[in-house]
Amino acid sequence: MPARTSHTAAQALRVGGITPLTTIDFPGRLAAVVFCQGCPWRCGYCHNAGLLDAAAPAPHRWSEVEQLLHTRRGLLDGVVFSGGEPTLQAALPDALARVRALGFATGLHTAGMYPERLQALLPLLDWVGLDIKGPPAHYDAITRTPGSGDRAWESLRCVQASGVDYECRTTWNPTLFPPADLVGLAHTLADAGVTHWVVQRCLAAGDVPSTSPGPLQFSGVEERFKSLTWRG
Ligand code: SF4
Repeated sequence: MPARTSHTAAQALRVGGITPLTTIDFPGRLAAVVFCQGCPWRCGYCHNAGLLDAAAPAPHRWSEVEQLLHTRRGLLDGVVFSGGEPTLQAALPDALARVRALGFATGLHTAGMYPERLQALLPLLDWVGLDIKGPPAHYDAITRTPGSGDRAWESLRCVQASGVDYECRTTWNPTLFPPADLVGLAHTLADAGVTHWVVQRCLAAGDVPSTSPGPLQFSGVEERFKSLTWRG
């Protein structure tokens, strides 16, 4: 029998996509991914362009998420909200609370653009994957949004103060900022107390695919992190 969803603020969540199972998006968990519709930033490398328009009709209802979770009890142990930018949506706190009430751990992928909202969400979260898109001097060019770097770095401070598990994630190629600045970013993150860092290499025009951690490999930064993951 399909699960019934009582009327809830979470029903207003604009869900742009659902992945029923992931083993890589929520560390240590078998998780579902809920992709949230809408993001005000415009990173040139964004792979989720279809999720950027907050006014676009959402293809899924929240009730589909809850029904999936009812059918996957014992098979999944977490749900990670991704996007788009999940913290854009006022329905997110209730959605997180409902996921927890169903017995699943909660994770969030965020670019940290709303530190005050993230602060309020942290008690509802078991893990945060926070984008730190680059050194402060490069931020606004990457996101095409003035003031974006200040917000992201403030979000990092909020997450760290909360004690919630987290990792920082950086998407990079040499056209975004030079390799030396990536090494500098590594040291800045380590100096700030970040222990888990994922660098996702994205391809730009003329760029050559590589699985080598390139500028980080011989720079002495690896020993500064408990985990440093390179995705080529
Ligand atoms: S913040 Fe994330 S979702 Fe928004 S444009 Fe940048 S990469 Fe895309």
